[in-house]
Amino acid sequence: MIAIIMEGVLFVALVAAGGALLYFVITTYTPVGRRLREVRNRKLIEQEADTHCPIHGTFREEEMVRLPSGDRVCPQCFKETVWQTR
Ligand SMILES: [Zn+2]
Repeated sequence: MIAIIMEGVLFVALVAAGGALLYFVITTYTPVGRRLREVRNRKLIEQEADTHCPIHGTFREEEMVRLPSGDRVCPQCFKETVWQTR
């Protein structure tokens, strides 16, 4: 009974190891992996650009202010805008 269970566990481990190896080979040595890395880099740069103000510098994502229109603005610019309109 234990031998059958161990055989099943080892078979599942073999399938998982084979899947991990296949994923590693595909993402490392094929154009698909390069495309995935490029998409990841683009998203990272877009995220950095969203949290960067050309006047006040870079803020954390939690510090950014979302306007009712959906746009995001840096907290310093938002404070200056609020203070000027009041
Ligand atoms: Zn700003």
